[in-house]
Amino acid sequence: MSTPTDRSSICVSLPDGREVALPEGATAADLAAEIGPGLARAALAAIVGGEVRDLSRPLPDGAEVRLLTERDPEALGVLRHSAAHVLATAVRELVPTAGIGFGPAIDDGFYYDFDVPEPFTPDQVAAIEERMAAVIEADHPFERQAVSRQEARDLFSDDPLKLERLGEIGDDEEITVYRDGPFLDLCRGPHVPSTGRLRHYRLLSAAGAYWRGDERRRMLQRIYGTAFFRAKDLRAHLHRLEEARKRDHRVLGKRLDLFSVQEEVGAGLVLWHPHGGRVRRIVEDFLRESLVAHGYELVYTPHLASEELYRISGHLDVFSEDMFPAMESGGDRFRMKPMNCPHHFMIYRSQVRSYRDLPLRFAELGTCYRYERSGTLHGMLRVRSFTQDDAHIFIREDQIADEYNRLLDLGDHLLGVFGYEYRVALSTRPEKAIGDAAIYDDASARLAEVLRDRGLDFEIDDGGGAFYGPKVDILVTDALGREWQGGTFQLDFLMPERFGLEYVGQDNRRHQVVVVHRTLLGSMERFVGGLIEHYGGAFPLWLAPVQVRVLPVSEQWDGSAAELVAQLSAVGLRVELDQRDTLGYRIRAAETMKVPYMAIVGEREAEAGTVAVRARGARRKQVAMERGEFVSRLADEVERRVLAVRG
Ligand SMILES: [Zn+2]
Ligand SMILES: [Zn+2]
Repeated sequence: MSTPTDRSSICVSLPDGREVALPEGATAADLAAEIGPGLARAALAAIVGGEVRDLSRPLPDGAEVRLLTERDPEALGVLRHSAAHVLATAVRELVPTAGIGFGPAIDDGFYYDFDVPEPFTPDQVAAIEERMAAVIEADHPFERQAVSRQEARDLFSDDPLKLERLGEIGDDEEITVYRDGPFLDLCRGPHVPSTGRLRHYRLLSAAGAYWRGDERRRMLQRIYGTAFFRAKDLRAHLHRLEEARKRDHRVLGKRLDLFSVQEEVGAGLVLWHPHGGRVRRIVEDFLRESLVAHGYELVYTPHLASEELYRISGHLDVFSEDMFPAMESGGDRFRMKPMNCPHHFMIYRSQVRSYRDLPLRFAELGTCYRYERSGTLHGMLRVRSFTQDDAHIFIREDQIADEYNRLLDLGDHLLGVFGYEYRVALSTRPEKAIGDAAIYDDASARLAEVLRDRGLDFEIDDGGGAFYGPKVDILVTDALGREWQGGTFQLDFLMPERFGLEYVGQDNRRHQVVVVHRTLLGSMERFVGGLIEHYGGAFPLWLAPVQVRVLPVSEQWDGSAAELVAQLSAVGLRVELDQRDTLGYRIRAAETMKVPYMAIVGEREAEAGTVAVRARGARRKQVAMERGEFVSRLADEVERRVLAVRG
């Protein structure tokens, strides 16, 4: 690059390699204008030497600059952070005494936390959204200013939360404030040029949130919103949210009578009602059957253990914040089990193992207890007591590739049956890994080879592995396109050492085993909660708590209907006879409960030995079917675990 000799000008380079000379002090906005009027209008921010910055900041000489428009993904976060400031501007205009906390952009939008005496009502949120339109209409420029610590203290003397944040900014860091019209915020930026750039936005909800997520600190009121550059993106997002709301497992769990969480029992403690229990049992039966077929042994271990066990495992040192406190009894200290691993290790260690015994696969539907903060609890998805689909596999080092192939086979089978798409990620050695780096890297390389050989298009999270070994993650995508943790296959070179897990090799010497911690479905709570949302409560036939409702047209046909019920239950189908109220009522009730099939019996059907079948989602369409044929068709659909219900 040519260095300009004229001290009053600078030179910057663009992504295509082009160089542009500008007067000293020129900003990214000036650069955009220099390139063309179209870009001058479209530019929102700039990436200068890798950092996203305001358009209004002067460019350093020699910088590499990329101007951001709404087509660049980096610009969306800038817009949303600016939207958070617009929100705070509106709130301050309506509630001048509101204290202000943090207001970041997040994955799907933005939020701002306010210190106000009362929670925001829906009417207030609507008024705030309306007020935001006025702030946008005014088109206030976002003005950045670097200030001294003392200046910042004076500016925010009424805002204790901001002062606290100010105290954490290091002496070597620049302190900046941003102003848009009447609103001033302690903020690192960057922002779009002015409030008028925000056009397609929506406030979504308001909820209490502890300052800094700490339940010992004061409760603030958080307002969530979202913003997009294009109206159609906002519409699509709101539609997705609406779909997710309709599928919310807490709402469906109540309506379909699947589970509950009750204050008297305790936060984060799930009660499985009979119909939820049926779904869980079917999932568990299917899982156990698959595990046995894949060479697992099922073990059972208690819900609590002597604290000594967790001292050996090291959990007491590194995991105690997530464990429930100790219980004392007869001078012994016990802990509720936070994970199943140490118990399974003790089973392994209970006898001498030979190289011929390996691999040994111990599986358990093991219930664990972890102290999750009350603010993070969420229906069945984030709980304090959960039953893990857990297993520990004890292998020799030369068996790693083979065992991971088996795990991937099993995962592929299980997830396919539930209708989940998935992708795979491999996490490799971090800086702080313990033990021999060569062993760790060699294992990672072998895992990568396994994934490649299977033709999987996998991601590598370089350095993202645990300090004791690499892992393979299965990430599933549900019907709404959301991603969930679907399984983890974690290699462990550390625990075998801590617990002295060995085998006698062909050479008659003792060797250390390698452990694989693996979960496929996660926990029953999270998996079934996820299934409820994945299917929107409309379970496929094989999982449905009630598979068929038999509806007599009138009392006269109760006998014929009861015969059909007997026929269906004889082959193990879960069937109910509904004799309540009118036929119309019974049909609506079956639809609300998302029962896969309705079997209607009236005069014609009773005489001909047939049944009028209504499939879920087929609306008023009814198909007349011979009874034997109906029963065997359903039995076949269950057997093959067919996902769709056929009308
Ligand atoms: Zn900010
Ligand atoms: Zn484990």
